[in-house]
Amino acid sequence: MRTHQLVLAWIEEQLAGGALTVGGRLPPERALATQLAVSRASVREAIRILEAMGVVRSGVGSGPDAGTVITADPTAALGSALRLHVATSHFPVADIVQTRVLLESWSVAHAAARGQAPELDAAAALLERMDACADADEFLALDAAFHVELAKAAGNAVVGAMMGSLRAAIQGYASSLTANLPDWDATSARLQGEHRGILEAIRAGDGARAGTLVGAHIEGYYREAGMPSPASGSGDTPGA
Ligand SMILES: [Zn+2]
Repeated sequence: MRTHQLVLAWIEEQLAGGALTVGGRLPPERALATQLAVSRASVREAIRILEAMGVVRSGVGSGPDAGTVITADPTAALGSALRLHVATSHFPVADIVQTRVLLESWSVAHAAARGQAPELDAAAALLERMDACADADEFLALDAAFHVELAKAAGNAVVGAMMGSLRAAIQGYASSLTANLPDWDATSARLQGEHRGILEAIRAGDGARAGTLVGAHIEGYYREAGMPSPASGSGDTPGA
């Protein structure tokens, strides 16, 4: 095990055991190096890795913001990792589409069972903004945000974070497909009709209908852009 991995293992152990908690601070670099018998460079490397993973934030100077603070920001780190792996084609777009159908049909069904959630109001507000939006890329950024709100409305923190992580990848593939669409105005009007149908079904407590509608919405866009059915499995054919 490399020495910075010893530091990572120790921090993970402290988090799992509850000795370190969100909002708390890591021991100072020098103290940690002495305690674990590693170099300060190893401690710094471990902290850089944890920063990139959204687990800690390094403060500067002295005072209340000084030191390395434990944070909990999984979406930023997971989101950029997913986006990079989509960029390398390690994660084919068809697999992202299939994952969306899986997560989102579950989410809307649970959101419907849960009743009114503040995320549904946020989702409705995003639809208003999309109505006023002529630019396709901007529309699709709001569209991805709308789907994240629906997922969060289910009330499961892990599913919400997973959808938050997928957001940039969703926006990326949706934007890359607009060139394949013959008539953006017609497509965006159709998407908005579908968005309102999904939201209405959730608000009416009809989880089964909301699930069917969201699946058809996600796959419909993908197919309209001329992509093969994601349900047939992607294997080594990324589609785009
Ligand atoms: Zn949508």
